[in-house]
Amino acid sequence: MNLLTDAWIPVQHQGSYQKISLQQLLCGEQSGELCLPRDDMELACLQLLCAMTQVLFIPRDKKALGQYIREPITPEAYADACRGKMDWFDLDHPETPFMQTRGLTGKFNPINKIMAGINDGTNKTFLNDESISTVLCQPCASIFLFNHSSNCPSWCGGVKAGIRGATPATTLLLTDTLRKTIWVNVLTSEYIDKYGYHDNDNFCWIDAVPQVGVINKIKKGKDVNLITLGLKRGLFWQPAHIELILEPIEKCSCCGSVAEKGYKNFIFEKFSYEYQGNWKHPYSPRVFEINKGEKEFRFISYRDKTPLWTQLPQIIFDNNDEKGGSEVAPVIEQLQSLYVSGKLSLIVGGYECSKATIVKRHHDSLFLSNNWIENRSRYLSVISIGLNYKNALRMAIYCFICNSIISPSKNNKEKINRICSEIDAIYYSETEGVIMDSLALLSSGIENENLSSDLKAIVLRIFDQQTKPYSHEPKMLKALALARRSLYKSLKELEPQGEAHE
Ligand SMILES: [Zn+2]
Repeated sequence: MNLLTDAWIPVQHQGSYQKISLQQLLCGEQSGELCLPRDDMELACLQLLCAMTQVLFIPRDKKALGQYIREPITPEAYADACRGKMDWFDLDHPETPFMQTRGLTGKFNPINKIMAGINDGTNKTFLNDESISTVLCQPCASIFLFNHSSNCPSWCGGVKAGIRGATPATTLLLTDTLRKTIWVNVLTSEYIDKYGYHDNDNFCWIDAVPQVGVINKIKKGKDVNLITLGLKRGLFWQPAHIELILEPIEKCSCCGSVAEKGYKNFIFEKFSYEYQGNWKHPYSPRVFEINKGEKEFRFISYRDKTPLWTQLPQIIFDNNDEKGGSEVAPVIEQLQSLYVSGKLSLIVGGYECSKATIVKRHHDSLFLSNNWIENRSRYLSVISIGLNYKNALRMAIYCFICNSIISPSKNNKEKINRICSEIDAIYYSETEGVIMDSLALLSSGIENENLSSDLKAIVLRIFDQQTKPYSHEPKMLKALALARRSLYKSLKELEPQGEAHE
């Protein structure tokens, strides 16, 4: 199956489901919304479509990109863009199969090992639906292969995660149609140059001359300097060495399509190497610290059970100060130059991990108003108010525990941190609606003047609920009084100053 010519993109249009080709989509012959059994697969499919379109077409400038967004391309333009590139995206190419390595030796592994969150030995009802995971058709396999290499933790030692780390957050822009959504996530030549993406190297699986100890152009035991990666290799980085075993099948257990050929097994070889540096991925925001004058980057990921809004400033605004800051994903930066006061609609998705196991998947949509850039300080203010109330609650609970336990030993410290994190999680879950509503109201130009009082009421309620079981124990009364005093003091400090609003 060739991703350039075959119909592999699963869409739903006016109630009917079908698979369409990239040409049909970009030429406007077919349309529809992506339709896969899981939202993470839909995001991976969109990411794959954007990355493919990016390496096929590099719009000269924003005028050329605007044309692509407005009008479907002609079949001739599509054929021109694909010329000489048919070997890049052929899933069963005899020498250069898409995102695979030919000639690997090793035992067969069930195909569900490359399906995020399945077959990692952990029971997760939301992900672990065995029924979708035994036989894959080629379209589903290509999406899982890409998702595994780009967005997932490694499944064992000797197999690396992707270049953005184990569980990066991916941010892609959204529009009202799939075709336009793909194009708004394509960088123009101006931005390609600005970010220093070069075209001097090819995909991992293309031009990989066989040599002892070298697979996919990586030398065993030698570091890969990510800064040197070009656009093609970076967007389609394959950290593992995988060969899918094509065999006769009847039906795909993921999408339900009838297919003659597909995959039940794959082979992989362990291969050790390390990453150096950081590659500015077009679809990911990064944060950095400045250490000895150098910026040390890491990608934003879903961590510590924190909701998306806590990282919103890093996802939509660049920040820079003496100690560090953050950079939005290049596709979002480019959008700011395309439409000075356009709306911002985003999908943000990724996995949450515990050690190397996926424990949760996230998929959020964000809609910001026309004036989101001018309203930066208002958006940031909602976030910081939300975080400040969380800190006030955490501090009070911390104070309560510290004053009520006898020895502040190391074990107790860990216990205190664990309890405080649980309180944070309760706060996040109880306040998410209020905060997301406030952000949505800002998008309509309305400031939620009750935000502080709403959060204060929630904080007091959580504090009472959590400390109530101890309120009748004489030993605890002093600790409780001290904690309550600390909470009231913090809440007083957080009250709006009563100044006139802007
Ligand atoms: Zn399928």
